[in-house]
Amino acid sequence: MKLKETGVLTTADLKEMGRYPSEERMKKGPVAVAECVQDIPCNPCETSCPFKAIHVGENISNLPNVNVDVCNGCTTCVAACSGLAIFVLDKSYSDSVGKVSFPYEYGHSFKVNDVVKAADRSGKNVCDGKILKITNTQKADKTTIITLEVPIEWVDEVRSIYRDRQQQLVKEVLSEKLGDDVMVCRCEEITAGEIRAAIRQGATDITGVKLRTRAGMGLCQGRTCEALVNQIIRQELGNSPEEIGFSTPRTPQRPVTFGTLGGDLDE
Ligand code: SF4
Ligand code: SF4
Repeated sequence: MKLKETGVLTTADLKEMGRYPSEERMKKGPVAVAECVQDIPCNPCETSCPFKAIHVGENISNLPNVNVDVCNGCTTCVAACSGLAIFVLDKSYSDSVGKVSFPYEYGHSFKVNDVVKAADRSGKNVCDGKILKITNTQKADKTTIITLEVPIEWVDEVRSIYRDRQQQLVKEVLSEKLGDDVMVCRCEEITAGEIRAAIRQGATDITGVKLRTRAGMGLCQGRTCEALVNQIIRQELGNSPEEIGFSTPRTPQRPVTFGTLGGDLDE
């Protein structure tokens, strides 16, 4: 899975996981794709859909499943998704161009019919796109939904509008040294300062930090903090990503109840 190697999800990853709408479905009309592949406790997508096309279920750490036969591409969930992970794709529009709707939370002065630089999931400019629609809903008034017309071959890749300054900011944030009081592992409440202390005690990789601090051992199992821990080790020691490594996944990889583990007490 490319996401593990590069930090950027790919269409191939989503297809491999069976989480991408088929060509046939996209050619029938607009359909949502939830590019949400980590078991985080979150479900506004499910509750926002007026057509009950998204299912997360009782365990809110489940991944959302979009029922593509029920979804009509209304885009309500695009603004509701707290992870900005839902997009609406449409390849029914014409043979040469398609439509991509995505959330956009930066200040902007775009107008309908503007031609803009379209960006892929990594933020790279891949083609031009024409703005067809700009929507602000009352419920999610800070999240604009933009619908772009792009060449049909880019519908699977375009997910935003390219921002020069954005690229610069990403670089700055990645090289920025987090203050010692910044909370890195939210589940176990471990700060950047505690991670640095663990490094001074001899930790040189993700596992070493985890053993000394418990960072990555909480509910999210490192899904939230691992990249930041990796960044702090790189800044402190200059180790390569290969040397820092990943945490070792162990079962159960998601929280399960005692009932699931031990069975019904009455049995
Ligand atoms: S696009 Fe509309 S119908 Fe489809 S899943 Fe989202 S909210 Fe539901
Ligand atoms: S709201 Fe967004 S981030 Fe949360 S589960 Fe649904 S798709 Fe994933």
